[in-house]
Order: sequence, then structure tokens, then C-alpha cells
Amino acid sequence: MRYGTTLGEPFLQALESTVSAGTVAREVPLAGRTTFRIGGPAELLVAPGCAKEAAAAWALAKAFGVPVRALGEGSDLLVADEGVRGVVMALTEGLGAVRVEGDRLFAEAGASNASVAEAARAAGLAGYEFACGIPGSIGGAAIMNAGAYGGQFSDVAESVLCADDEGHIFEVNAAQAAWGYRESLMGERGLLVLGATLRLRPDDPDAIRGRMDDLTRRREEKQPLSLPSAGSTFKRPEGHFAGKLIDDAGLRGHRIGGAQVSELHAGFVVNAGGATARDVAALIEHVRTVVRERFGVTLEPEVRLWGFTEEDCR
Ligand SMILES: Cc1cc2nc3c(=O)[nH]c(=O)nc-3n(C[C@H](O)[C@H](O)[C@H](O)COP(=O)(O)OP(=O)(O)OC[C@H]3O[C@@H](n4cnc5c(N)ncnc54)[C@H](O)[C@@H]3O)c2cc1C
Repeated sequence: MRYGTTLGEPFLQALESTVSAGTVAREVPLAGRTTFRIGGPAELLVAPGCAKEAAAAWALAKAFGVPVRALGEGSDLLVADEGVRGVVMALTEGLGAVRVEGDRLFAEAGASNASVAEAARAAGLAGYEFACGIPGSIGGAAIMNAGAYGGQFSDVAESVLCADDEGHIFEVNAAQAAWGYRESLMGERGLLVLGATLRLRPDDPDAIRGRMDDLTRRREEKQPLSLPSAGSTFKRPEGHFAGKLIDDAGLRGHRIGGAQVSELHAGFVVNAGGATARDVAALIEHVRTVVRERFGVTLEPEVRLWGFTEEDCR
């Protein structure tokens, strides 16, 4: 079933004048904006030109009752084949600035982890190496408390610049951010992340480079990076590893349509070629059912699903 548009003329006109430095476009395919390479269009794609514009456009959508969601690098997302209604706010175009001052680094929400790790290294600042291979943005990292190889965002974040539903811009400090395993106050309260300040430590750029290269090598060995995916499909269940449970359940390589449990790393569902969002969602459900039946463990998806509930499907 398709639902009607939520976008009336008054909203569209107000949005056009709010987003003067950025861009607004209708029916923009999201597949190319996700690492799964899957997904239908955003009814409206807004790419704000700066943080103030992003906050104002966010508040405008909220005031008009238009669904709005933030998009970083799309590396933790499964977007429905029909797409999503309302506004998708793409932050990687207009909010990519990175500034270093002393041992602090400020990055806007759309800056990629790779570019932030590289800027930190070039400035002789250590601490963000763990994130150099996490293919997301600073906004996504702050929301999810992204982590890898013993490091996580909350280890180095001093504060996060946010906007609320009224468009107020304010800082959430590390003590307030309530970071846990793949969760945060910002995610829980549905705040828009505009940027973050990291507190790093001086170190030799060559030593930092060495650690980044080592982590990249380890990732390349263990992860199915040649196929589109959204990384680990499931959160780590208490006392277990999702990949091992899936493997032990005999699901390594299991396929539904073009979606497959990776042969290389059973914790990843990959797009093995021509997968639809429906294929991936069905495979996720199948894996959850089999693992629950075999081991009594309920796997929770780490990947965020867009467009699968009645209020945001089309
Ligand atoms: C090959 C591969 C390897 C990966 N390895 C890791 C890993 O080692 N560790 C790890 O933690 N993750 C990993 N991931 C998952 C993913 O990269 C991270 O979760 C990342 O932090 C998501 O950031 P993003 O910008 O892509 O977010 P998106 O996928 O664009 O969005 C994810 C969620 O965050 C929200 N969001 C994004 N930006 C903002 C913002 N500015 N304000 C408010 N909400 C926002 C979105 O609305 C959505 O709900 C991997 C993914 C892939 C494909």
C-alpha cells in the first residue's frame, strides 16, 4: 500500500527559503547513498548548506508534522525498496568541515570518520585511529557510539553539537551523552547531531599511520569488504558473538534472493548481487528465528531499518 504525500505547498515554500545555501530535491534514490546499495527514493532530499540551515530545516519539518531523518554515510541503514516519505536530511554534502585547535578536533556531522582520522593524524593527534575504517560519519558515530578494535567514540568525544525539534542549537557534553553500546542520549531523544569536539593526545604522525594501517589490514582480512553491506548486522548479544551463533546455526552462506550471510564473516549480511531490501529484511528475520530456536538468544539488529513501519512507508 502506498500512502499520500506529507508535503504541502506551504511547507515546501518555507523549506525553499530556509535552505538557501543547500539543496532540496524530490524523489531522490537512496540506494547510492547507502553502503548496502539498496533502497528506494526519499520523497524529499534536503542537503543543508550549514549547521544553522540544518537545524532550521529540521525544526520546520517537525513544526509541519513532516517525517524527517538524518542521513550520514548510510553505512548502518537498510532502506525499504519503496523508499521513505517525508524529508531525508543528507549531511555529508554541506557539513563536512574539520578544524584542529591544540589537542582538540571539531568535526561537523557529515565529515567521514576516515577524513577525521586522517586530519587528526596529520596534526599529530592520536585517539581516533580506531575509527579510520568505520565507513560512517561523525553524526552516525556520535549517535551509535561507533566502536572498533577496543576504541569507541565516547572514549574521545568531549561534546556533541546538537539541534532539537525547535531548532535550538546546544552542546551535549560527554557526561550528559549517556553513551552505551551503540546508543546515546542523542539517539534516544531524536536530536539532530551537527558536529562533535574530540579531545585527542599528541603523538608521532608516523606511529599513528602505522596503527591505522594495521587496523585496515585486520579489517581487510576479516570483513567482506568487496560486497555491499551495512557492517555487523546484529548487535553483540550479552555473553555471545552474533557471528559465531549464526555460524554455529549453519547459516554461513545462507541466501534469500540476492541477500546472503557472508561466507567470510557470518555476522555480516551482504548484498551478493541484486538484493532488494525485502530480501535483506527476510534474511535478517530468518537468521533471528533460527538462532532463537537453536540457542534461545534473540539477536537485535544493529542496522537501522527505514520505511518498514506504517508511519514511514510509502
Ligand atoms: C563494512 C562496514 C564496517 C563497519 N564497521 C563498523 C565498526 O567497526 N564499528 C561500528 O561501530 N560500526 C561499523 N559499521 C557500521 C556503521 O559504519 C556505523 O554504525 C556508523 O557509525 C554509521 O554512521 P553513518 O554516518 O553511516 O550513519 P547512517 O547509516 O547514515 O545512519 C545511521 C543512524 O544514525 C542516524 N544519524 C546519522 N547521522 C546523524 C546525525 N547527524 N544526527 C542524528 N542522527 C544521525 C541516522 O538517522 C540513522 O538512524 C560498519 C559498516 C560497514 C558497512
